[in-house]
Amino acid sequence: MSEIKRLRKMADKIYAKMESMQQLSDDELKHKTEELKARLANGETVDQIMPDAYAAVGEAAYRSIGLRPYKVQIMGAIVLNEGKIAEQKTGEGKTLIAALPAYLNALEGKGVHVVTVNDYLAERDAKDIGRIHEYMGLTVGCILKTTSPEEKKKEYAKDITYITNTELGFDYLRDNMAQRMEDKAQRGFHYCIIDEVDSVLIDEARTPLIISGVTGKSTKLYTACNELAKQMEKGELQELSKVDLLSGERPEETGDYTVDEEHHSVTLTLQGIEKCEKFFGIENLADKSHTELMHNIIAALKAHNLMKKDKDYVVKNGEVLIVDSFTGRIQPGRRYSDGLHQAIEAKEGCGIKEETCTYATVTYQNFFNKYDKKCGMTGTAYTERKEFKDIYHMSVVRIPTNKPVQREDNADRMFLTKKAKFKAVVDEIKKSHATGQPVLVGTSTINDSEILDKMLKEEGLQHTVLNAKFLEKEAEIVAKAGQHGAITIATNMAGRGTDIKLDEDAKKAGGLKVIGTQRHESRRIDNQLKGRSGRQGDPGESVFYLSLDDEVLRLYGSERMKNILTMTGMQSEDSIENGTVNRFVKKAQNVIEDNNFGTRKNVLKYDKVNNEQRELIYAERDAILEKADTRNTMLSMIEDSVDMIIDKYAVNKYVTEEEYQNIRKEIAILIFGIKAPDYKPKNEKKGMLKKKLAEEYVTAAKNRYCEREKEWPDVDVFREFERQIILRCIDVKWMQHINDLEILRQNISLVGYGQKDPAVIYKLKAFDMFSKMSDDIKNDAVYTLFSSRLRTAAPKKNAAA
Ligand code: ADP
Repeated sequence: MSEIKRLRKMADKIYAKMESMQQLSDDELKHKTEELKARLANGETVDQIMPDAYAAVGEAAYRSIGLRPYKVQIMGAIVLNEGKIAEQKTGEGKTLIAALPAYLNALEGKGVHVVTVNDYLAERDAKDIGRIHEYMGLTVGCILKTTSPEEKKKEYAKDITYITNTELGFDYLRDNMAQRMEDKAQRGFHYCIIDEVDSVLIDEARTPLIISGVTGKSTKLYTACNELAKQMEKGELQELSKVDLLSGERPEETGDYTVDEEHHSVTLTLQGIEKCEKFFGIENLADKSHTELMHNIIAALKAHNLMKKDKDYVVKNGEVLIVDSFTGRIQPGRRYSDGLHQAIEAKEGCGIKEETCTYATVTYQNFFNKYDKKCGMTGTAYTERKEFKDIYHMSVVRIPTNKPVQREDNADRMFLTKKAKFKAVVDEIKKSHATGQPVLVGTSTINDSEILDKMLKEEGLQHTVLNAKFLEKEAEIVAKAGQHGAITIATNMAGRGTDIKLDEDAKKAGGLKVIGTQRHESRRIDNQLKGRSGRQGDPGESVFYLSLDDEVLRLYGSERMKNILTMTGMQSEDSIENGTVNRFVKKAQNVIEDNNFGTRKNVLKYDKVNNEQRELIYAERDAILEKADTRNTMLSMIEDSVDMIIDKYAVNKYVTEEEYQNIRKEIAILIFGIKAPDYKPKNEKKGMLKKKLAEEYVTAAKNRYCEREKEWPDVDVFREFERQIILRCIDVKWMQHINDLEILRQNISLVGYGQKDPAVIYKLKAFDMFSKMSDDIKNDAVYTLFSSRLRTAAPKKNAAA
C-alpha cells in the first residue's frame, strides 16, 4: 500500500470518529484529555491513542476557533506524529495541522515545542491555535525575544510552548552557562514541531548559533590590511584543463591576487606576497609567526572582492549587518567569523568592533537532534529529501492538496542582459495591472528591488517594496499582496509563512501573478515563491524572467551561451523560452545544490566531534549543578591533580632527586600558591617509592583542604564558593577549547595531510585536546580553591569573633 493510501485510510477513520464527537457536550469533550492521559498511564502508547486524540482535538478546533480540519490536514498531522516531514503546500493550513500532534504529544506531560521562524508567527499561533489547547484543558506558552528569563522558565513549563528556533537554541546555550540549577529555563527536549522546517534545518543550518564576548585584541590591524587591500591589484584566474594540470603545467599568475568566486576564495600571487611583505616591513609572510597577519590580509581581500554591499550585507546606522542569501533577511546580531566582519567594517569605514571569542556554540543540526522526537512541515521539502534523511533521519511525505492546484506555471523567459530583463518585467507588470490582477515580484537582492522600485515609479505605478530592511512589518504587508490591482516587490522570502488572501475582484482577474526575477541557487526557494500563488484551489500564475547576466548562470558559464545566442542573431530585447535554456538553468542549479549540500555535510563531519564533546562537558556541568554538595568532587580533583604532577615528572618506580625537587615545587604551588616554595610535607623524602610519595602528597593536600574549609565562617558559603569555582573552570576551559577547535579545523583545511582524511585527523587531535582540557579543569579548580584571595573576604572564625 502506498504511503498516501495508508495515510488516507487512517485519516478517513479519524474523520469519522471526529464527526461522532459532535454529539458530545462541551464537558464530555473536554474530559477526553483526562481519559487519554489515563490511557497513557495504563501503558498505552502515544500512537495507540492517536486516533481518539486527533478526533477530540479536531472537534475542539471547531468549537474553539471555528475550523474543522480537512482530511488532508489530518494526514499531515499523522505524519508529524510519526516524526517525519510533511510537505504541505502553502495555504493548506499548517498552523492548524500542528495543533493535533502538539495536543497528542503534550498529553505525556513532558512539554512540546512548536517552533516558528519569527516572533510574529510564534505570538500569532500561540494566541490563535492556543485557544484549542486551552479549551481542552492544556496550558499554552509563548516565548519571544522580549520574554524575561523568569517568564521563560514559566512558559517552558507549559504543556505546549510556541517559540522561534533562534530563541530556543540560544536558551539551550544560556542554560548551559547557568550558575544554579534553578536558573535553567528549559526542561528537556521531548517533542518539537518545526514550522518552515527547510528554512530552519537547511538554510539556517549553515550558520551555527554563537554566544560570544570580546577578546580585547587591537582593531588597528584591520585598518592596515584594508589600506593594503585597496592598493593591491586583482589578477586573472587562468583556467587550466585537467590535462594541462596533469602534465605539470602551472597556471600563469597576473596581478597581486586572484579571486575564485565559485569557491569563495582568494589567493595571493608571488608578486602579491612581496607587496604585503614590503607594506608591513617583514621578511617572510609565509613564516608561522605571521599566520594571523596573512589571515587578515586574505579577509580584507575577500571583503573587497567577494562580499557585496546590499547583497551579502547592508550598512545601517554605521553597522554592518548580514543578509541571509536564502531568505533575504537581515540577521541582526550575527557576525561573520574569522575577522571577515571586521574586514568589511574597515572597508565600509564603519567603526570596527573588537574581535570576539566564542563562549558557547551549537549548530541547529545538533540542537534539534537532541529531541526524543522531532518533525516538521513546509511547502517545499521534497527536493531536499536526501539531506533530511541523511542528516536528520526524517523522511519527507508529500501530502496532496485539499483542492487541486489551479496555478499556471509558465516556462522561463531568458534575456541576454539584466537590463532587457527588467524592462520586460516592468512591461509584464503593467499588462497584468491593467486588468487588475495582483502581482508579486520576487527579487533575490535588495539592489534588484530598488532598481524595480525606480522603474515602476517612472511608470507611475503604485506599488509596495518589501525588503529585509523592514522586517517588522513585512508579514502584514505581504498579507495584502492579494488585493485587486496590488503590486508588491519582495525579496526572496519576505513575509514567509504569511497567507496571501485574494479578494473577489482579484480572483476574477486571474488570481495572484508571481514573477521571479532570477533563479535562486536552490530550486526549493523558487518553489516557495511560486507557491505563494494558487493556494486552496485559487487561480494564479507564475513565470520566471532570467538573463544571462544572472549570478547563478554566470558562475556556470553563461558567457559561452551568450556568445552562441548572439551569433544566432538574438537581440538584447528578444527573449527565448526553449528546452536548451531550461536544461542549462536546471543544470546550473543542480551543481550549486550539490555543492551546498556537500559543504553542509562537511561541516557536519567536524561538528559531530564537537557535539560529542559538548554533550560530555554539559553532562559533567549538569552533574555539578545537581549535586547537593561538591566536597567529594573536589577531593577527587585534588587527588587527580596531585597524581598528574607526580606522573608528569616521575618516570620510574623510585623518584630521583631531580624529579623530587620538581614535584615538590609544583605541589607547593598547587596547594599553597607560589608564595610557599619551601613547603615540605612531614614524611616525604627523596628516593621514595613513587606510589608512597603520591600518597603522602594527596594526604597533605586533603589536609590543607580541610583547613581551608574551616577558615570559612559558614560552611554553606564555602560549599557554594567551591561549586562556583568548579563551574567557572569548566566554562573557561571549555570556551578556550571550542576556540582552539575552530583554529584546528581551519589549519587542517589549510594544510594538506596527504592521503589521510582531514576529518579523521581532526577527530584524533580534538580528542587529545579534550583530555588535556579535562586535566586542566581539575588542576585549575584545585589551584583556584587553594589560592583564591576570597579568603580575605571571608574572615576567619576567630578573627571575626
Ligand atoms: P500555511 O501555513 O499552510 O500556508 P496557514 O496556516 O497560514 O497556511 O493557513 C492558511 C489559511 O487557511 C488560514 O487563514 C487558516 O485560517 C485557513 N484554514 C486552515 N485550515 C482550515 C480549515 N480546516 N478550514 C478552513 N480554513 C482553514
